[in-house]
Amino acid sequence: MRKPLIAGNWKMNLTLDEGCELVKSLKINNDVDVIVAPSFVNLLGINKVIVENKLNIKVAAQNMHFEKSGAFTGEVSGEMLLNIGINTAIIGHSERRDIFGETNEIIEKKVLSALNQNISVILCVGEHIEDRESGKHENVVISQIEYALKNVDEKDMENIVIAYEPVWAIGTGKTASSNDAETMHLTIRNFIAKKFNSDVAQNIRILYGGSVKPQNIKELMSMNNIDGALVGGASLKSESFNQLINFNK
Ligand code: PEP
Repeated sequence: MRKPLIAGNWKMNLTLDEGCELVKSLKINNDVDVIVAPSFVNLLGINKVIVENKLNIKVAAQNMHFEKSGAFTGEVSGEMLLNIGINTAIIGHSERRDIFGETNEIIEKKVLSALNQNISVILCVGEHIEDRESGKHENVVISQIEYALKNVDEKDMENIVIAYEPVWAIGTGKTASSNDAETMHLTIRNFIAKKFNSDVAQNIRILYGGSVKPQNIKELMSMNNIDGALVGGASLKSESFNQLINFNK
């Protein structure tokens, strides 16, 4: 059985004080894994509050560089993350791809670099609206995954979560219908079974992301192949995030 996972991607939102207040207000239930991804500058402080208050919440970075160190102004390495106790990173978010020009090639390097350093990866993939309208959405998503995982060993797949996030649904209030999301998740799982094997496919968690909110989480989570959610806007407020992480109550 795959344990549900709800991950909050805070993007460039919430100060350290606001983030600390938010994590302290979360009512964690042990049937759901919870991750928060604050900005780099707040990772250490948020993690400290979580540890001090014995909260069962994991902290993830929103990005990392693939090189170990060097002249990369403004970037953060895996080693720096590990050194402050962070061992999970979101890689390939559509905002990184579209605003900061991250290509499939860059994302592939980041995935491999993270896994080689024992950093777990939340790999984001998703199509643009034109891809869906022209019926290319499955090809686009599968080729993003195929590229990102092309050199990944089967043994490292337990350290990967895939987040399917249709770009047209992120921050727009539009959500993929639960059936459309389920169809894509099943396509992804079938691809993983073909590339690796059915055990890997059955064990990997595939999250849905794109305007997930308290009103649609139950329906999405009722689908066989949706194992959780990557949430932006609704993870920034205690009330909505608490409802999401307690969708099963
Ligand atoms: C995201 O950024 O990963 C996301 C899904 O954002 P939102 O929930 O705001 O659509």
